Formats: sequence, structure tokens, C-alpha cells
Amino acid sequence: MSAKIIKGAPIAEEIRAELSKEIEGLKAKGFTPKLSVVLVGDDPGSVWYARNKVTTGEKMGAVVEVTELAKDTPEADVVALVKKLNADPNVHGILVELPLPKHINKANVMNAIAPAKDVDGVTAEQRGYVLGDMESLALVPATPLACIELVKRSGVDIKGKRVTVVGRGDTVGRPLAMLLLSKGRDATVTVCHSRTADLAGACKDADILFAAAGAGANHLIKADMVKPGATVIDAAINEKPDGSITGDVDPAAAEVAAVITPVPGGVGSLTTTIIVGNTVKALKLQKGLN
Ligand code: NAP
Repeated sequence: MSAKIIKGAPIAEEIRAELSKEIEGLKAKGFTPKLSVVLVGDDPGSVWYARNKVTTGEKMGAVVEVTELAKDTPEADVVALVKKLNADPNVHGILVELPLPKHINKANVMNAIAPAKDVDGVTAEQRGYVLGDMESLALVPATPLACIELVKRSGVDIKGKRVTVVGRGDTVGRPLAMLLLSKGRDATVTVCHSRTADLAGACKDADILFAAAGAGANHLIKADMVKPGATVIDAAINEKPDGSITGDVDPAAAEVAAVITPVPGGVGSLTTTIIVGNTVKALKLQKGLN
């Protein structure tokens, strides 16, 4: 039996339709969500992501502005720009594209972002909301939220299920584990990492398996590590020698799982849309709107 392949694009489209309506409603009340993207240097991936935010956001009626800084811009100037955006009442969300050039301390820049405008969920305050099960106040990092949306919108119930997350990274695995554990989602969560003694056993035990290790292109999670009938969400991005990308899960797992996401074309297709969604949420929290 072959698994149902859950592609990200139609789900992203569904979320965009909901957000467009919400933005229309906000505009009718005199509020236009605005996201400010800071791009330092000319890393091709970052340039693409920044442009993609403009296209995606503007399609939904939001304003997305990119400030481009030269790659030799001093750290103090980047921090000063972030602080200027913090103080601008017309900017509701701020995102600094990563990676930053080597001479810039990432933490200094990220910590300069006002938590209320931190649509990438990188500041300690936003992380605290997720950790403390206060998601209604949180701007949740996009990739873990994309994983949750994919499961939810595929009609798979998380409640009470045995869930395994492979990876305890700051960006994906760790916040994802907290979201799954939250009251209301109520998963029973196992988190694995590079020191996990029995990775295969932990994966095989899972009704829903999330892969977020980025452990290389040789597919860490093989088909025989997947429980028959499981839901498999692969958030990883591994670059193959030919430049193409692949996930952590061997595509052969589709013969065992009931539901599986492709890489590329799965989780990654949702993240830009979710950043715009976070900008809308940030605006509503800032203005006390519901
Ligand atoms: P990270 O911070 O590097 O964390 C990776 C985690 O995987 C670590 O906890 C590491 O364990 C664990 N790990 C590595 N090799 C392992 C192995 N052989 N067995 C078990 N666990 C292993 O990564 P991240 O930033 O959270 O990102 C995770 C993945 O998501 C990456 O592939 C990244 O490219 C991808 N990603 C995708 C998107 C998207 O839009 N789809 C966005 C962001 C990130 P230790 O803690 O023990 O080192």
C-alpha cells in the first residue's frame, strides 16, 4: 500500500485564502499588516526568501518591505535599523534573514528585535510563550507551526497519539515538541537527538513521526523504522551532491506510512505564508484586536 502524499502547496493556498479574508477585515478597520524584512548581504537563498515574502505577502494584501544592507555593514548599523523598525508603529513584524555575514553576532541582532514584532519567534519572550503553553500570545516559529498545520489540515488527529520528533534543534524540533505537548493537542511526545540510544525503536513506536534532524542526504529514517499506517512529516532539508534537496526520511517509507510529506514540496511550502500569518497575529496583539 502506498501512502497518501500530503503536498504543502494546496494547504498553503488554503491558509492564504483565510489570511486574505482576515487582512481585508483588518484593512476595513484601518489596519494594514506590515512586515519588514532585513537582508544583509547577497546570500542567494536569503535573497530568494526575502523576495518570496514580498510576493506572497502582497498577494494576500499585506505590505512587505525589504531593507537591503551591504554584506560589510557593521553589526551596530544592523542593530540600529532593527531598533528603528521596533519604534515604527506602522511596522508590525520584523524578520532578519539568516544566515548573517560572519562578522555579525546573530544573537545580538535577534535579541534587538522587539518581542511583540518577532514574527520568526526567535526571541526569549516568544520562546517562553511556547514553552509555557501560552500559544494564544505567541508568535510561533514558522517551521514547527507548518508541521502542525500539515497534520491538522490532513485530518490526522494528534490528541493522545504517540508522537516522535527526531531533532531537538532550536528552530524546529524543540519548539515543535512543546507545541505537540500543549494542552489541547495532547500528544505523548518522545524527542530524539544524536545521542538517542534506540532511534529506530522510538521512530517505530510513533503514530505520528516528525523528522527535523537535517542529518545528511543519506536518509536517516529508513522504511523499516516507520510504523505501518503512521503519519510522517519531514521538515528536514539536506543538500545532495548534485545540489538537489532531500529530507531525513527515505522515500521508500511511503510504502509503509499512511500519510507522508514530500521533500521538497511539503513543510517548506508553508513557511512564508505562516510568517505573514504571524504578522497579522502580531498586529492584532499589538492593537488589542481579536
Ligand atoms: P539543528 O539545530 O541543527 O538540530 C538538528 C537536530 O537533529 C539536533 O538536535 C541533532 O542532535 C539532531 N540530529 C542530527 N543528526 C542526528 C542523527 N543522526 N540522529 C538523531 N538526531 C540527529 O537543526 P534545525 O535548525 O532545528 O533544523 C532541522 C532541519 O529542519 C534541518 O534540516 C533544516 O534545514 C530544516 N529546516 C527546514 C525548514 C523548512 O522551511 N522546511 C526551515 C528551517 C529548518 P543533537 O542535538 O544531539 O546535536
